[in-house]
Formats: sequence, C-alpha cells, structure tokens
Amino acid sequence: MKYQKRSFEEQIIMSISAAAALCILPFLVIRIINQDWYIAFLDFVAVASTTGLLAYVYFTRRTLFARWVLSIISLAIASGTIWLKGAEQIVWVYPAIICLFFILPPQLAAVLCAVNVGFIGYLLHADMTLLDNVRYYFSTLVTFFFSYAFSDRMRFQQVQLQILSYKDPLTGAGNRRAMEEKLIDIVKEQRQQPQKVKACLLLIDLDEFKKINDQLGHACGDEVLAQTSALIEHMLTSEQYLYRFGGEEFVVLTDGNLEQAITLGESIRQAVNDFPFEQGLHITVSTGIAEYQFDETEFEWLGRADTAMYQAKSAGRDLCCLAAS
Ligand code: GH3
Ligand code: MG
Ligand code: MG
Repeated sequence: MKYQKRSFEEQIIMSISAAAALCILPFLVIRIINQDWYIAFLDFVAVASTTGLLAYVYFTRRTLFARWVLSIISLAIASGTIWLKGAEQIVWVYPAIICLFFILPPQLAAVLCAVNVGFIGYLLHADMTLLDNVRYYFSTLVTFFFSYAFSDRMRFQQVQLQILSYKDPLTGAGNRRAMEEKLIDIVKEQRQQPQKVKACLLLIDLDEFKKINDQLGHACGDEVLAQTSALIEHMLTSEQYLYRFGGEEFVVLTDGNLEQAITLGESIRQAVNDFPFEQGLHITVSTGIAEYQFDETEFEWLGRADTAMYQAKSAGRDLCCLAAS
C-alpha cells in the first residue's frame, strides 16, 4: 500500500495522546503503590483511553471523533482528579486548557475551557483562601488568553500556508499540485457517475513565447504570463478553474460538454488575440481541448489535450484543436 503522509490533525492528536499517556503512567504506578484506588482507577482510565485513541487515529486516520474524545478525556481527568484530591491537583487545569486549544477550534475551546475553569473554581472555592481563589482565576485566565492567541494564530497561518501551497506565485492561478489534485477528484467523480455532467480540459500554450523573453527580457515575459492569466481568470465562472501547468502553459478545467468547452476555448483565444499587451505585443495562444472519456486516467486525459494542442501549433498557431477520442 502506498504510504500517505499524516495530516497535521492526525499528528497533533497522536502526539497529545502519546504525551498524555506517558505523563500519567508514572502517577498511575505511584497511586497503585500507595493503594490510592479511586485515583489509580482514574489514572488507569486516562492512560488506557489516550493509548486507545492513539491506536485508533494511527490505524483509521480519522480525527473528528478522536478530537472530541480527547477533549472530553482532558476535561474529565482534570476535573475528576481535583474532585477526588482537592486543590493540590489544580495544576492539571493548565495542560487541559492548552490541550483543548490545540485540538479544537479556538472559539469552541474557549467556551469549554471557560465552563471547566468555572466548574473547578466552584468545586474548590470553599477549600481555598481568597488569595488562592484570585490566583487560580488569574493564572487560568492568562493561560487561557495565551492559548487562545496561539491557537488562533496557528490556524490562521496554517490556512494561509495551505492557500499559498496551491498557488502559482507569478500568476496567482492554481499551481500544478492544485491541478493534479483537482484532476484526480474529477476523474474519480466521473468514474463513479459517468452519466453525470461532462468535464472538459483546455490546455492553453502561449505561441512563440521564447521570442518575447529573448527580445524583450524575462521580466517582460513574466508580465505577459501574469496578464494572460488574469485575462483568462476574468472570463471563467466560479465552477471553472485555471491552473498554470508549467512555463507558458495553462490548463482550464470546466464542467459541461465539448461544445461549451469549444465556445470557451474560442473566446479565450480571441480575447488574448485582442488584448493590448505591454509594449504593443501581440500574443496568441494554441489550445487543445479534450472531454473526459470514461475510464481514462488523468494522465491519458491530459495527454490527449496535449496532442491536440501540438496539432494547433502544427496547423499554424492561434487555434483551438479538439482531441481525438
Ligand atoms: P511554441 O509556440 O511552439 O509554444 O513556442 P514557445 O517559444 O512558446 O515554446 P518553447 O517551449 O520553445 O519556449 C517556452 C519558453 O517559455 C521558454 C522559457 O524560457 C519560457 N518560460 C518558461 N517559464 C517562464 C517564466 O516563468 N517566465 C518567463 N519569462 N519565461 C518562461
Ligand atoms: Mg509550451
Ligand atoms: Mg509556447
């Protein structure tokens, strides 16, 4: 079986589960030695459930259920141990808060933590001095705010990174990785429901682009690529996707039949032909158009569009050609 890299969520939940099991295990041993059975039982449940959760995520790669269970375990163990042993166990509130902010969306973690801190404060308020009560609320509040800020920032950066990792930096179109993932999705969908709406691929190559670089410089070539990409993007609907396939080649993926794809390919060809590019340049594109054929792979589909694009080149450029079936 092909090895698939573990997601960020899987790594977080497995690491926290492993760390929790390893940290609680010595306490379980001490409680057994001291014959402190109630709390030994609680520690045993904590070690067994976090180990079970680690195995569950390792084997199933599912994280939704696991993150809820881990959140409940963290809160239940922190509250349970304080309920059984009183204020001396208060230190467990802090890792529970941090754990929740790591595994749940920050807003949800904030609500659960606030309820838990309030509940534990209520359990302990009579056993603690006024100063201890104030210390408890302030220290949990500080932990709460730092964890919130950290978690919020981490998730924001994660989203930004993910967006960047699918974008071509020069043109802002989707990059090759984004295109390959979308192709895999479409092929899967088309194989499952072949009667469903058709899908077409347009492979668009700028004509004699090397000459622009050679005559006007690489920076001018870059500008032309960015402008062409923006021009095409502007003509697409939200259900049509533009990718930079490589160099001066773009791919458009669109729902719909071959006639609709031809109309789109022709309007793109005409729009590029008419566009007033930098330094009075006249740019044209050659396009290969291929409708998905049942059971072909994404490489075969792309290959047919590529062959059609080269036919457009051979036929004189500034043309759209249809792929052979
Ligand atoms: P054809 O009409 O047959 O497609 O000719 P062409 O010159 O467009 O094709 P060729 O494959 O010979 O050259 C492509 C050129 O695109 C060569 C390469 O220097 C240039 N190129 C590839 N990526 C970039 C880029 O990111 N920026 C710039 N400025 N040029 C690029
Ligand atoms: Mg090319
Ligand atoms: Mg070219």
